[in-house]
Amino acid sequence: MDFTTYLKHYPDKDGKFGKYGGAILPPELIPAFEEINEAYQTICKSSQFINELRRIRREFQGRPTPVYHCERLSGKIGSCQIYLKREDLNHTGAHKLNHCMGEGLLAKYMGKKKLIAETGAGQHGVALATAAAFFGLECEIHMGEVDIAKQAPNVKRMEILGAKVVPVTRGLKTLKEAVDSAFEAYAADYKNSIYCIGSVVGPHPFPLMVRDFQMVVGVEAREQFLEMTGFLPDVVCACVGGGSNSAGMFTPFLADPVEIVGVEPLGRGPKLGDHAASLTYGSEGAMHGFNSIMLKDEKGEPAPVYSIASGLDYPSVGPEHAFLHDVGRVKYEAVTDEETMEAFFKLSRYEGIIPAIESAHAVAFAMKKAREMGTGSILVNLSGRGDKDLEYVIEHYGNGNRFFEDEER
Ligand SMILES: *Cc1c(COP(=O)(O)O)cnc(C)c1O
Repeated sequence: MDFTTYLKHYPDKDGKFGKYGGAILPPELIPAFEEINEAYQTICKSSQFINELRRIRREFQGRPTPVYHCERLSGKIGSCQIYLKREDLNHTGAHKLNHCMGEGLLAKYMGKKKLIAETGAGQHGVALATAAAFFGLECEIHMGEVDIAKQAPNVKRMEILGAKVVPVTRGLKTLKEAVDSAFEAYAADYKNSIYCIGSVVGPHPFPLMVRDFQMVVGVEAREQFLEMTGFLPDVVCACVGGGSNSAGMFTPFLADPVEIVGVEPLGRGPKLGDHAASLTYGSEGAMHGFNSIMLKDEKGEPAPVYSIASGLDYPSVGPEHAFLHDVGRVKYEAVTDEETMEAFFKLSRYEGIIPAIESAHAVAFAMKKAREMGTGSILVNLSGRGDKDLEYVIEHYGNGNRFFEDEER
């Protein structure tokens, strides 16, 4: 496949990446998503929109974020050099604000008054509440009661930012029910509001739009890496939950002679229910309004999934990743909790960077790969910082000394 003209052809006008993607919607929501699509197709070409988003990224988000050479971590492993794209330094501490600010600006151009979304662990909710505060829009975040109890600090953050957190009490009271509840609220009020999806998932145009908003990560990183080293990296990698930080990082490298790897959470192991490695173990199926590859139970329903990183525990994946997987342009590998936590502590102790557990998956893969390659270079998208994970890590892993036992200090 020729990737030099890839962006012109994928997705097609129906939002398809090959057989994946599309917009599988109840009839009452079809006009709403068509309106978003038409608005986005026009606005994304407007120089006023592009310039305003550029200014927001520079002045509010603190972009460009740097690329950083991990000399100490690399040296502990061998001669292969690991570099990080520091999305942890983006305002609010992760890449999610890249698409939330884009979605907020789109809402403003469309004359909408309210942003609606669901959130699981609360990361998307906090990023969206931040965007809503910036643009002076209302924000309504649907969240399962179980998650509200588990993620108290994020609930407080959203409230401080002025968002309304709507507790969802039906079913298992977690993410799936929160999605249903948010969709219902949107269907009832789509003239006034816009639904903001938190990754490259959901019905068209979200997989396209969120990828476009995240592409700033890869565009910056490619230029910065070239400027620093004079070369392109041999390998580019990023963790994959729904797939937004990875899509943003990978897309600008698709036409380059670079090996691209998406890193999935293998959790406690390959048994169904112990991981969330959708591309590694899943098969074709539709959920949440789009067709992709997903993990299914015996009945063909989305399977229960587990990941130590709450941002990665999704049973499906963005349709573009399913496509890039099938055509073989991107490889998908999975790392375990244990490998992830080793990377978490090593990056912290050798470089002074505490990563989000999500991002530590990509670092864990890079460390394994560096050992295997011996020479060359690997560019990792460090999607977020680890402050949100500290309490959990301390409770379950203490100070991490056991990961350093066989090393001299
Ligand atoms: C949400 C999140 C992810 C996973 O989402 P993607 O859409 O796969 O990028 C990864 N890293 C961090 C820090 C997150 O908050």
